[in-house]
Amino acid sequence: MAFEGLTTRLQNVFSKLRGKGKVSEEDVNEAMREVRLALLEADVNFKVVKEFISKVKEKAVGSEVMGSFTPGMVIIDIVNKELTDLMGGTQAKLARSNKPPTVIMMAGLQGAGKTTTSAKLAKMLLKGNHRPLMVAGDIYRPAAIKQLQVLGEQIKVPVFALGDGVSPVEIARQALEHAKENGNDYLIIDTAGRLHVDEELMEELKQIHATVTPDEVLLVVDAMTGQDAVNVAESFHAQLALTGVVLTKLDGDTRGGAALSVKAVTGCPIKFASLGEKIDALEPFHPERMASRILGMGDMLSLIEKAQSSIDADKAKEMERKMRNAEFTFDDFLEQMDQVKKLGPIDQIMDMIPGMGKVKQMKDVKVDEKQMGRVEAIVRSMTKEEKQNPDLINHSRRKRIAAGSGSNLADVNRLIKQFDEMRRMMKQLSDMMGGPKSGKAAK
Ligand code: GDP
Repeated sequence: MAFEGLTTRLQNVFSKLRGKGKVSEEDVNEAMREVRLALLEADVNFKVVKEFISKVKEKAVGSEVMGSFTPGMVIIDIVNKELTDLMGGTQAKLARSNKPPTVIMMAGLQGAGKTTTSAKLAKMLLKGNHRPLMVAGDIYRPAAIKQLQVLGEQIKVPVFALGDGVSPVEIARQALEHAKENGNDYLIIDTAGRLHVDEELMEELKQIHATVTPDEVLLVVDAMTGQDAVNVAESFHAQLALTGVVLTKLDGDTRGGAALSVKAVTGCPIKFASLGEKIDALEPFHPERMASRILGMGDMLSLIEKAQSSIDADKAKEMERKMRNAEFTFDDFLEQMDQVKKLGPIDQIMDMIPGMGKVKQMKDVKVDEKQMGRVEAIVRSMTKEEKQNPDLINHSRRKRIAAGSGSNLADVNRLIKQFDEMRRMMKQLSDMMGGPKSGKAAK
């Protein structure tokens, strides 16, 4: 996952501060030196780093940090706010024209993810009850038109294409007419990319721009390319007046510098982040949530939103009731695993839970899809009665379950122990929150 190195380093800086009852100016300076190094190592633009540090220092030194009993927390709060500001402060939303269609022009270098992002965006709009039309304007890259058509079929969004014999400017012009006639309220124009920024490409993009006067010009950049992404954004912005940036490949192990520098350097907000190859791996970019993730404080809001769109609310309620009543069984456990799987790769989900990033970095904790598969196999080898009443599972049953699931006895023991602990914790939580809700006695 992106930012991992940065998160670890920042957490180390803060945990040193947290241990102190009071901090001196020297402590703050020392911490800031480390934050500065961490940001530079994460490939954040050096000018951006310099300004960032001076802002944080100014606030920290002049503020309540010195007198605070929790100086570490106060500094984290300052850094959190400044990181948020650095990435644009608030979410920059997609434009919406009051004279439909809203025209979105996609630009970017080859391989940045323009074509896939066009489809992801179309899918997102479709989900929001819009009627997008995609335009195959990349006539140079072999198979780009076909790629867009295949994606269009997959997500059930029409694609306007005139083959590779008509100029992209003419394709865009006709597509706009077509959208107006057919009541498409969003027009997403995929354009050609090159390996490098070049004159010819810019000229063509400018002509398309002049022809369709887009409401949005979104530059798609590959976050893995770090500072190059920022340089590309600068060159495009100088010629095309971008309205926003889409950062792709944030699922990779990019150090994150691009995300942190692009707004400060170009003035263009990041509007979307792409975290995977799958068609629904596009998310609106929320600076405050991203800052929170970078600091290892999780991103519960995004997690809740993801959950709301993919999890059955009634089932979730029932699960909560069971947890409160400590009625949770292995059947529920399986069900919950299925629900979690729907949310996406477990790795990304863990990053959204506060503190989990740190757990993930611990050497002996390995949570991955394979591990989940093994756990699932063990639970599925239990009988119906055992799943409902885990207390039944004695030594000989454990041996049978281990053999049945192709795992060893230690794995089974560990799982059952963890499950018992989980139930005990749930019961404690439930007691803390005022006991079972439904009036049924907890076990
Ligand atoms: P284009 O040349 O800019 O149109 O780029 P494409 O849309 O064809 O994408 C290039 C490659 O990057 C494809 O293999 C995509 O699947 C991949 N890709 C795009 N976005 C992401 C992303 O967010 N994460 C990952 N891992 N791969 C991506």
